[in-house]
Amino acid sequence: MAEKISGMRILGLDVTVEADAELGRGRNLYGEWHPGLATVTIDPSLPPQQQGETLVHETLEALKSLMELELEHPTLSALSAGLHAVLRANPELVKAICEGKEIVHG
Ligand SMILES: [Zn+2]
Repeated sequence: MAEKISGMRILGLDVTVEADAELGRGRNLYGEWHPGLATVTIDPSLPPQQQGETLVHETLEALKSLMELELEHPTLSALSAGLHAVLRANPELVKAICEGKEIVHG
């Protein structure tokens, strides 16, 4: 099993990523971004792929609040689902971007 993620950096901010088993109880919530705590909580009972999609969603929620973006929630949800699908479909590209490699050759 891969190591679990306990934190991430978003625009220079150290963000804690935590499991919250109570999150979904009666609220139909998969994850939550807590701006004051700089914490993302995720329901650990979700299947791994859905945890990943939730993390991307909450990352966009964090960017929205940190950058003070006007973004309706249905739009944010559509973008996070689409971005998650693109990230998953292109691991080599994600690696190249993270390593600062050329995407195209001149
Ligand atoms: Zn949301």
